[in-house]
Amino acid sequence: MALNVNRNVIDPFYRYKMPRLQAKVEGKGNGIKTVIANMVEIAKALDRPPTYPTKYFGCELGAQTNFDTKNDRYIVNGEHDANKLQDLLDGFIKKFVLCPACDNPETSLSVKRNSQSIQAKCKACGHAFVIDSKHKLSTFILKNPPHPLTFENGNGEKKDPNSPINESTNGFDYKENVSNGNDSDTEWGEPTENEKLTANIGKLVIDKDLDKSVEQRLDMLHQFFIAAKKDGTIKDAVRMLNEAERLELKTKAPILLADVLLDVDVRNQLKAYRDLICTFVKDDQKAQRHFLGGIEQLIQNHKKELLPKAVLIVKDLYDLSLVEEDTILAWAAKPSSKYVKKEFAKEIIRGKVGEVTVEPKTNGVPKPAAAPREEPVKVNDSDGEIDIDDI
Ligand SMILES: [Zn+2]
Repeated sequence: MALNVNRNVIDPFYRYKMPRLQAKVEGKGNGIKTVIANMVEIAKALDRPPTYPTKYFGCELGAQTNFDTKNDRYIVNGEHDANKLQDLLDGFIKKFVLCPACDNPETSLSVKRNSQSIQAKCKACGHAFVIDSKHKLSTFILKNPPHPLTFENGNGEKKDPNSPINESTNGFDYKENVSNGNDSDTEWGEPTENEKLTANIGKLVIDKDLDKSVEQRLDMLHQFFIAAKKDGTIKDAVRMLNEAERLELKTKAPILLADVLLDVDVRNQLKAYRDLICTFVKDDQKAQRHFLGGIEQLIQNHKKELLPKAVLIVKDLYDLSLVEEDTILAWAAKPSSKYVKKEFAKEIIRGKVGEVTVEPKTNGVPKPAAAPREEPVKVNDSDGEIDIDDI
């Protein structure tokens, strides 16, 4: 019987199905192993290589795995029950398949060698996100990208069949292994070729950044912000702004900032990163609108925690002078489907307008907030204060 890919969904008409996992125990004693008989079908339903869920089982169970891709045999050493593996598979699906924004499983992965990160993109809602790099399977995916063509360096997802990149990767193949009992990590072919190739692409990328599509540049800036947050330089607002301007993305950058900086603790984070965000959104209603879009996505990603707080979050945006009154009113008057589904945007707005904050009729602008808005916004960087208008 087919199962819903997301087993939390009980809707029998849910579109995304996968076969129930079949496990077959073979061998005895030290050689006992569990063959996942229908791993290929499961993997197809998840649109992931069969090696990923198999390896995931190995990581979770602390067991060695073996793949014989020619004969479609995917094996976890030791004796494991099908139900247990099925439950583990839910974890894999949650971490490596489902879109965190809309829960849809139609996502694709690509490996970015430069940043050593696994990028994911949702085909249903367009949400781009990064896979948790701390999971052991992530290390495996980084070494064994889902598709040779995604073994790339910020080069976007466009595949040009005439490009030399494509030709060079045609030779990418991996060898099967079942008999020697080694972990599979060493069994993939020619990673050094790909590494060489990636280095060359790297050079090309730096010279031609502005020839890239907006999406590709957004991806680069996203990576830049993620890395900056990791190494603690993200509060260097001037540096962040420079990179965004270099890629001609100053206005769109706030949606990425929302993604990188904010989570369920958004209300504190808005305060903590207020100066940085302000650098991007001050006097730029389009940028503010993008930031609101990022907030919409954030609320969608953490619906349970944040939807009830939507009103407070929007009020924070206003109180911290991150989004002007006019922008908020325009946003509330016309829900957009640009960032989240329109229905969800409406839900957020309903929550907001339900309370009296900046709702137009009452003109209920919290009065104390007006004062800080009038002050010129200053940005601290290491050299002291810089007026944002001079940047
Ligand atoms: Zn999605």
